[in-house]
Amino acid sequence: MFSLDGNGKTLPDIEEDIEAYFDGYTGSKALEEYADPISTGRKEAAKKFPINPGMVCEWAWLRYAGGGIEPIIGCPGHPAEAIHHGPDKNTMRNVEGNIHRICAECHNRWHAANDKYYGERPTLADGGVDASVPFHPIDENGKRYDPLPHDPVTLAPDEQVHAEDKRRRDEARRHGTIPKIKD
Ligand SMILES: [Zn+2]
Ligand SMILES: [Zn+2]
Repeated sequence: MFSLDGNGKTLPDIEEDIEAYFDGYTGSKALEEYADPISTGRKEAAKKFPINPGMVCEWAWLRYAGGGIEPIIGCPGHPAEAIHHGPDKNTMRNVEGNIHRICAECHNRWHAANDKYYGERPTLADGGVDASVPFHPIDENGKRYDPLPHDPVTLAPDEQVHAEDKRRRDEARRHGTIPKIKD
């Protein structure tokens, strides 16, 4: 039915129709039109998914956290400190399932396990960052493929979480990030 109010669509609905390769995009222009999508995306993420005082790592106790190629074992509930994008590392993809408020330990662990599969960020012909396509892992032919999704449901056994937490602390201690205990 014809109507003068845009067939029942309000202005925000229309704005959400700007094309993106993922659902839930709310930006006001096309993804390839941002001069600095990395910084724009990070600012939008912090606004939409703020880390509030007392917030605990969203990956705590999970068995397959973060998706990607090697999902990780979560921590035993450290404070949330970082806003992470993944399994699609495009910082403009600020939607549920691709944004995670996590602790420094889980964040470092995920990148250490997965960055090697992702290669370089996609670029436009002029060399700028291309935010209009996913930043997904690449195969041996340089072709991008779909990573595993984040699994927010499956828990790891407590012993496994504690063992992984200890392993990470021992590793950090070896690298000098945590001071060695002197007795
Ligand atoms: Zn990250
Ligand atoms: Zn964590």
